[in-house]
Amino acid sequence: MSYEIEKTDAEWRAQLSPQEYKVLRQAGTEAPFVGEYTDTKTVGVYSCRACGSELFSSETKFDSHCGWPSYYAPLAEDRVEYIEDTTLGMRRVEVRCATCGGHLGHVFEGEGYANPTDQRYCINSISLTLKPAE
Ligand SMILES: [Zn+2]
Repeated sequence: MSYEIEKTDAEWRAQLSPQEYKVLRQAGTEAPFVGEYTDTKTVGVYSCRACGSELFSSETKFDSHCGWPSYYAPLAEDRVEYIEDTTLGMRRVEVRCATCGGHLGHVFEGEGYANPTDQRYCINSISLTLKPAE
């Protein structure tokens, strides 16, 4: 897999904070309930904090009470990519930014949330930057 935006490890380390680097480039996970955008209701667009690609809209953000910002769909399917993740003994689907390969979080489905897709894109706040609508 090659990405439109590719940087060396040293370049990413220079651009991102240590916490951002750990999540975006090393697929780390932010602690629950502490992320900047967990309960944010602001209208706007969430972009990838590493490359700026627009990933999620506040319109698909919903209250999952899981401790991380949750969306029921990406802004467009080609903005993200999905990778099977079997770490931690679980079968999960990792969600990455399709432009830079940055780790965003995971997507779960069929959990019974009352939203149009029955999906939950469980995304780390630190992987995102919210641009409020004017
Ligand atoms: Zn990106």
